[in-house]
Amino acid sequence: MRDAVNQVGQSRARSRLLRRTIAAGVLACAAFASLAAATKASSEVARAGADIDVLHYTARIEPDLAAKSLRGHVAIRFIVRTQGAQRFDFDAGDLDIVAVSEDKKPLSFEKLDKRVSVRLAAPAAAGSRHEIEIAYRGAPRFGLEFHPDRSELYTVFSTSQWLVCIDAPQERATLDLTVTLPEGLKAVGNGRLMSKSALGGRREAYRWRQDAAMPSYVYGFAAGRYNEAGGTSENAALRYLSSDLQAPQLRRVFADTPDMMRFFGRRAGIRYNGTYSQVLVAKTIGQELAGLSLMSEAYGREVLDDPSAQALIAHEAAHQWWGNYVTCRDWGHFWLNEGFANFMAAAYLQHRFGDEAYRKQVDGWKRRLDKLRESGKDHALIYEHWTKPSADDRAVVYQKGAYVLHLLREELGERAFWGGIRAYTRAHYGHSVVTADFRRAMERASGRDLREFFARWVESAEVAAKPAAPAK
Ligand SMILES: [Zn+2]
Repeated sequence: MRDAVNQVGQSRARSRLLRRTIAAGVLACAAFASLAAATKASSEVARAGADIDVLHYTARIEPDLAAKSLRGHVAIRFIVRTQGAQRFDFDAGDLDIVAVSEDKKPLSFEKLDKRVSVRLAAPAAAGSRHEIEIAYRGAPRFGLEFHPDRSELYTVFSTSQWLVCIDAPQERATLDLTVTLPEGLKAVGNGRLMSKSALGGRREAYRWRQDAAMPSYVYGFAAGRYNEAGGTSENAALRYLSSDLQAPQLRRVFADTPDMMRFFGRRAGIRYNGTYSQVLVAKTIGQELAGLSLMSEAYGREVLDDPSAQALIAHEAAHQWWGNYVTCRDWGHFWLNEGFANFMAAAYLQHRFGDEAYRKQVDGWKRRLDKLRESGKDHALIYEHWTKPSADDRAVVYQKGAYVLHLLREELGERAFWGGIRAYTRAHYGHSVVTADFRRAMERASGRDLREFFARWVESAEVAAKPAAPAK
């Protein structure tokens, strides 16, 4: 994943990739790199955090923009699950751990590959609460992007490269994050802005509080010399930011966002509450975070040229429901994040631009699935083997996943399908899900037994010789 991120870093190649990506309807998103990290961990006997439940992180990050380095401090509050456990692992990327303590008393620790293993002073009782403090530093080569030439920095993909945490998707916690920045930058982060205070040495501290527990892969922030425009959508305050584009251009790029947020809120059966910020940053293939999304300046310019190129904006906005609040329990069920975001983006395009725009997306997914089958690369949507996901593995999750949702929509009809989507989203809002949760919700909404449909389309791969999708 590091290689992929570095490759993407070359701006010309990147914008070519972006154009191809959008043309092909392959919508990218956050979880790619955290995916790589977490899936590597999942193949080991125990993932970091398996024997604890994290409640809350209080973190302070002090980046040095010019030096492309950071110092950090995090207090991690957690409950112990396993009686007598004494050693606990946390994901720590390539960070150097400086000190670990509990109640101001130093604890012994060991940095092992991408983790820090911490030993408590004594074996812990199941159900006991702890808060350990970890001081660290690093010069992340990815995960936190430094662009001193444009006074910009932002997180992308791998949270454990800038915050010691548990990066498994089922581990939800609240976050209190302070980031110190050079004076005069504008910054956005997860949740509510609690304070912005002047420090000595021409520096400022931004502090945000994320009150709804979220998986750590959607933690993040962006800071730069941003121009800003905004709007509202029902209960949501909308912010649009960019270093290069001016406010009137930002209003054009994100002109459909208020409608989009209403649309997804209706489909989910839950309105968006709070602030949703969209930031156009120097480079990224697109990442959803809690309460904000990062897309690239290059993509913003594409939307200026072609206002119908809304698919990535819609994909990232859809993740605010499907991905952030209804989250795959592990990466084996990742299609519940990505297939959903792709499908919902197409449903929005249909609502906004008509049936042809939807059909175009569906045809793209179908072509990609045909190609997977021809090359023998198709596999089940539930896929436990994410040790090193290939482009084909991602196509299964992103595009076949979306295509299967389209087939299910055709199978059940509008009323039962969307009723099921609403029931599923509302029932699991703020929780982790597996595919069986989705199947049960759709069965209840339709009064149908969907075991056969899920066995064929979700739990196994069709072989190339079989006829392709039944067109109903
Ligand atoms: Zn995505």
